Amino acid sequence: MNTTPIIDNNIWQPEFECMAHSERKALQLEYLQGAVSRSLRNPFYKKAFADKGVSVDQIKSLDDLQRLPLTTKADLRDNYPLGFMGIPRNEVSRYQGTSGTTGKPTWVAYTKNDVENWSNLCARFLVSGGLKKEHTVQLSFGFGLFTGGFGLHFGIEKVGAAIIPISSGNSDRQLTCMHDLAPEILICTPSYALKLMDTIQGGDIARSDLRLEHAFFGGEPWTENMRTRIEEGLKIRCWNNYGLAEVQGPGVSGECAYRNGMHIQEDHFIFEVIDPDTLEPLPDGEQGEIVITPLRREGFPVIRYRTRDIGYIINDGVCSCGRTTRRMSRISGRTDDMMIIRGVNVFPSQIETALMRIDSVAPHYMIEISRPNAMDEITVHIEIKPDMFSDSMIEMHKTKREIGAAIHSITGLNMNIDLVSPNTLKRFEGKAKRVVDHRNLVD
Ligand code: ADP
Ligand code: ZN
Repeated sequence: MNTTPIIDNNIWQPEFECMAHSERKALQLEYLQGAVSRSLRNPFYKKAFADKGVSVDQIKSLDDLQRLPLTTKADLRDNYPLGFMGIPRNEVSRYQGTSGTTGKPTWVAYTKNDVENWSNLCARFLVSGGLKKEHTVQLSFGFGLFTGGFGLHFGIEKVGAAIIPISSGNSDRQLTCMHDLAPEILICTPSYALKLMDTIQGGDIARSDLRLEHAFFGGEPWTENMRTRIEEGLKIRCWNNYGLAEVQGPGVSGECAYRNGMHIQEDHFIFEVIDPDTLEPLPDGEQGEIVITPLRREGFPVIRYRTRDIGYIINDGVCSCGRTTRRMSRISGRTDDMMIIRGVNVFPSQIETALMRIDSVAPHYMIEISRPNAMDEITVHIEIKPDMFSDSMIEMHKTKREIGAAIHSITGLNMNIDLVSPNTLKRFEGKAKRVVDHRNLVD
């Protein structure tokens, strides 16, 4: 466990974040009983509970959670648009939507209490990662149905810092704003940070003219090696945070001053990790699919939601920051992103980790999968840093070999490596889409 803080250690709601385990467990049980009662207002859970022969009064301990049904994205889609709503429509304070990364976007609803809790939970991770009242924040998450924009907006307001609600897109304007209003803090997806990094490197405003010091990134998987690249490239420090609309939006977990994984807001969410194939529970420390039960949600009370995000839980005692919650690892990928190549499971994040180890490589890549002659084949298109791009075939060949070996050492697979000129691959303003799979088209 890291015991050296990178920034000042601050805590927004110590009464909850640092509470004793036993106290938190008692609270979780009380809230779980409430969450189950609320969920029974909708026909899906009424039937699912009846099918399993479980009733609310049988929830006597946290272990009883295991008896409750799991909920999938397909269940949400089958009950589209608002089959999971837990309240009459006149009690809804806000609707938001998922981004639709894996198909049709779905709606979620919040009551006034939900919005208030959500704001506090965003304030928790923002403060734990260094946001202070005196800061100015450039909020470059999309405003609108995506939970990133409005979710974070209210969290920043709680803390009392100044917000620039610029939303995503128009990188030149982002940079002008960063220069003219001099924010210390940036919030966006890590992919958008890469695009802004390009804009700074190619534009008229120099990095030294910006006050930017610090960033909060979330919304998509990214690796530790990518963090190093962005920290070096943008000369900032960046913090990871996690969330999803189905259980709230951002604010489910986030890193503290010690960056020991993301603290889970366990007084609001119960986390489980399951084997995605057998659905058996896995112990802390073992990687699997994360399942989340929001405990306080009124508008959209889902139970045991299968996130399809792969990660593990870190449970090694009280963190040096003083928080007593368990923490979660980085997300290594979504079950939908997992590529099965010649029988081997590979996540894009493994390829990213390998690529970012090679100095001459820029942080922009694209993965293409095809099946010529009935054999899976992956081609990794990767940009080379402008100062490393060379006309020498021998140099380029050496780089290709180095990249191929790094990928092989992590995935055990040989992949085709295609080095492309700087600034030729697509950049992203929100969540990146770096995998193109042609196999479904061929089949
Ligand atoms: P969608 O599932 O349509 O993308 P959301 O906009 O609610 O809907 O995004 C939530 C998803 O984004 C999560 O389930 C997860 O896959 C991804 N995500 C969010 N934050 C992170 C993070 N810090 N690291 C990795 N993945 C993340
Ligand atoms: Zn901590």
